[in-house]
Amino acid sequence: MSPHYCFQCGHELELRRMDQREREVCPACGWIYYAQLKVGSAMLIERDNQLLLLQRNYEPWQGSWMLPAGYVEADEDPQDAAHREVFEETGLIVEASEFIHAYYFSDDPRGNGVSFVYKARLISGEIKLNEESTAAQYFSWHEIPPYLTKGGHDQIISGWQSQARQRENQK
Ligand SMILES: [Zn+2]
Repeated sequence: MSPHYCFQCGHELELRRMDQREREVCPACGWIYYAQLKVGSAMLIERDNQLLLLQRNYEPWQGSWMLPAGYVEADEDPQDAAHREVFEETGLIVEASEFIHAYYFSDDPRGNGVSFVYKARLISGEIKLNEESTAAQYFSWHEIPPYLTKGGHDQIISGWQSQARQRENQK
């Protein structure tokens, strides 16, 4: 999904080998397109050792289960993006209580990226879905559905699942 035309002068770009990679370069003005990772945020919302998942209404991966999550706007702190996405997708008002991990994903047709994952503290609100999902449900670690959204969600949810299993086994 790289551009075809120069952002600086509008000339058609051409692929050139540089820095051991193929890069789109403008033969007219020398501008180089550097493809970079997308940035996303996701939230782990727990209740009674269960994790809130949403069932995805859109392709890619329609019908799979995902976390409340989304892309971070260019002028937004990833943590604020997580708060915003949770509110838009679930109607819940949450606050990030802990940064968990940053997950790299390379299996999203819209581009590779990194997702910042936070654990949520629930402030208020009732679950109210928007058009992005068809269902919301809390799952315990042994109930996590098999069809999980890719693009980082499956890695993050599996990570939560093994942590929750360990916590239960330590009791
Ligand atoms: Zn140019």
